[in-house]
Amino acid sequence: MARSDPHVRGAAEMFMNAARRGARVRAAEPLDETQPHRRTILLSALGAAAVLLTGCSSTSRTTRLPDPTWRDSHSLPDGDASHAQIPNADADLPGGVIPRSQWALGAPVPTLMNMMRPVRYITVHHDGSTAFYASDTASSTARLESIRRGHRGQQWGDIGYHFAVDRAGRVFQCRPLSWQGAHVKDHNDGNIGVVNLGNFDLQTPTEAQVRGLQKILVSLQAQYRVPVSRVRTHQEWAATACPGRSMQHYMNTLRSNGQLV
Ligand SMILES: [Zn+2]
Repeated sequence: MARSDPHVRGAAEMFMNAARRGARVRAAEPLDETQPHRRTILLSALGAAAVLLTGCSSTSRTTRLPDPTWRDSHSLPDGDASHAQIPNADADLPGGVIPRSQWALGAPVPTLMNMMRPVRYITVHHDGSTAFYASDTASSTARLESIRRGHRGQQWGDIGYHFAVDRAGRVFQCRPLSWQGAHVKDHNDGNIGVVNLGNFDLQTPTEAQVRGLQKILVSLQAQYRVPVSRVRTHQEWAATACPGRSMQHYMNTLRSNGQLV
């Protein structure tokens, strides 16, 4: 249960601390979609359920992000952006990916997002909520929609991740790649976010889910020329449990045995 997940517990503590600091919270800056708004802080502090729906990017480590939103490419951790590509539009959607129009009940809000920078990283997450064993499309899309609503409830422009992989290995488009994601504090520019539905501290992924993850990662690596050294998990950016012990294990395996290019 996510309530025992330090990921979620950290979020609740952050919201309570933020609520106590409410008087010092500045007015929201238009393009910082993750700056906590007073109304959101209050709602979040009052309702743990709202926190549970927001996925891994609701943690204290990823809620106030990015800082700064826009950075020059030369300030990124390693500066070789010569091959980086800027996603143009949904026309770039990898083959087999289910478009967001087939599950999302609300549209992205462009005024609350930044345009994507050249792609240089891919980061893997879990949603970190309750264990999730369903493999039917309807259950997966309902969970995705809950995460999207949770992120929108924080006044973010859309669900924070770009893609999601379910237990049957289906891959869903989330935030269009033309927009910067909201999934790793301070490291969202040029960073594609891929979330696995489930909590992999509480369960293990199916073979189909691992294969689906591998497929979308390889596809994105090829499309945006991202080497395996830049395919990371959330906990490789920051101190967080995400993507959970078992998914971290599978990511280590995929990278070490050459299944990611
Ligand atoms: Zn994460």
